[in-house]
Amino acid sequence: MSFTFFTRDKSKTSVDYAAMADRIGDLESVLSATREDSAVARINQAQGQPVEVGDYAARLLAQALKLCEVTGGALDITAYPAVKAWGFTTEEHRVPSGEELAELADRIDYTAVRLEGNTVTLPAGMEIDLGAVAKGYAGDWLAQDTRNGGIHTTSALLDLGQSTIVGIGTKPDGSPWRIGVRDPEGEGYFGVVELADMAMGTSGGYQRFFEQDGVTYWHILDPDTAAPARSGLASVTVVAPSALTCDGLSTALFVMGLEKGAQFWRDHPELEFEAIFVTEEGGISCTAGLTDRFSLAGGYEDREVTVLK
Ligand code: ADP
Ligand code: MG
Repeated sequence: MSFTFFTRDKSKTSVDYAAMADRIGDLESVLSATREDSAVARINQAQGQPVEVGDYAARLLAQALKLCEVTGGALDITAYPAVKAWGFTTEEHRVPSGEELAELADRIDYTAVRLEGNTVTLPAGMEIDLGAVAKGYAGDWLAQDTRNGGIHTTSALLDLGQSTIVGIGTKPDGSPWRIGVRDPEGEGYFGVVELADMAMGTSGGYQRFFEQDGVTYWHILDPDTAAPARSGLASVTVVAPSALTCDGLSTALFVMGLEKGAQFWRDHPELEFEAIFVTEEGGISCTAGLTDRFSLAGGYEDREVTVLK
């Protein structure tokens, strides 16, 4: 992660770095699926027994479950056994058989997660993974810490890594932050989004993948099949006030594909998000609310952008 803070008046710089480091530590102790004592790990090891978690963990879990629900399960935090079966946790990649995938898909069902107060119960054999939303949580909490730290009147850019970014305020000169959107086919940026007090997140098949027998398999899975989501999209970028919304919805929209994703955007104005979809053929579509904030980058000016209404 990399954080940049700007201030005009040095006496008003009150970034509490220690508090931010503590925040990241707190999040890690809840979210890490690989750290044995984390809340997520304890839930995954419970074999169907109820687990008591802290307020923080319960709150994060409730937010994630809400996103699973609103996306109709395109985002599903119980995909972890499938993520492991493909080797995405260890980098020892393999292609599970059709039979194994059918069995894994049966075990993906966020509606089976019971959260009552601070008690979490997960059926034996199921495991959760908050990897699709972790950077989003971190972005929202750290943005709040930054604002509470008193530098909101100036500006900051929080880069959570792997294409989740929060622009706090504007650039010091008052103009919006300009953030590049990665070309899923190359190294460069095909477009630029202007952000002012907004977050942005991208999910794409190019971020983590492996190849076998000429087929590319990536880390975003379709909960219905337990296999990499092949919706015809190469990447989805979401712009919203909340980084959690950006992170969770970019993954979910990638699973849904362009048509369903566009309909989801029309159906959910309350989520306050806009999106940029790139298809595997290189077609670019952006939702109507982004037209004055999104532009093509140098070298990409001749590409057509379809505006979704
Ligand atoms: P990245 O972390 O590369 O930015 P995402 O935010 O899209 O990517 O999250 C992908 C991660 O989420 C995967 O590595 C996996 O752990 C998990 N995951 C994969 N598919 C799903 C899904 N449909 N719903 C929820 N989590 C998923
Ligand atoms: Mg995500």
